[in-house]
Amino acid sequence: MATSSRKSGEANDYSVEEKIIALYELQKIDSKIDEINKIKGELPLEVQDLEDEMAGLETRIANISTEIDTLNANVKQRKEKIEQAKVLIAKYEQQQDNVRNNREFDSLSKEVEFQKLEIELCEKQIKEFSAESKVKKKLIEEAQALESDRQIDLAAKKQELDSIDQETAKEMEQLTAQSEAAASKIDARLLAAYRRIRANVRNGLAVVTVKRDACGGCYNRIPPQRQLDIRMNKKIIVCEYCGRILVSNLLDESEQAEA
Ligand SMILES: [Zn+2]
Repeated sequence: MATSSRKSGEANDYSVEEKIIALYELQKIDSKIDEINKIKGELPLEVQDLEDEMAGLETRIANISTEIDTLNANVKQRKEKIEQAKVLIAKYEQQQDNVRNNREFDSLSKEVEFQKLEIELCEKQIKEFSAESKVKKKLIEEAQALESDRQIDLAAKKQELDSIDQETAKEMEQLTAQSEAAASKIDARLLAAYRRIRANVRNGLAVVTVKRDACGGCYNRIPPQRQLDIRMNKKIIVCEYCGRILVSNLLDESEQAEA
């Protein structure tokens, strides 16, 4: 008496039994999709990891390059300083030829000495910067070698994944369409419950049949009265142990008989 007054979508046009059948259908289709995804195994994750590692190496190379640029700029600056010191030394030595007394001569000698020390310091720094730059260049080479290794790995794994995707694309498309068709017969709340259970169980089975008087998901015994209720297909019954939706094994047998 109340069913026609509740209209909240197409899914309500279906009886409980039809919904249960659709739910079991949906589970079988989704399990097939799971199987296909299983073929891919760790590949999608491995591809992601390699891509992350490559990006990390790129950043590392860019950072070291910037450091080398700074070192090169420092070397250039010290070289200019050496040239300036040489010019000053030449100037002071020339001035020493025209001094009026020893005091002026000594003072210029001190200036020359100071500039010579400056040159020494700059030369020492240039050596240090160049050595540091050499080490960093080596680090870049190592990172680049690692990068090209990873590039080869990545290309191989991507190709493998692509070929699986291509081989299974048609089947996946059909299964996705079938999954959507089955889902359209199930109301939103039940569908949400199905998805929630599926996400929480290891094998992705949210809908299981009763097998040898036990839940097909957790293998706990189902009392005879409950089994009878399940066979009636009049309401949604969940396993009291694992929370999976239980359906009659007759649904399975009838399908096998059809095939
Ligand atoms: Zn169970």
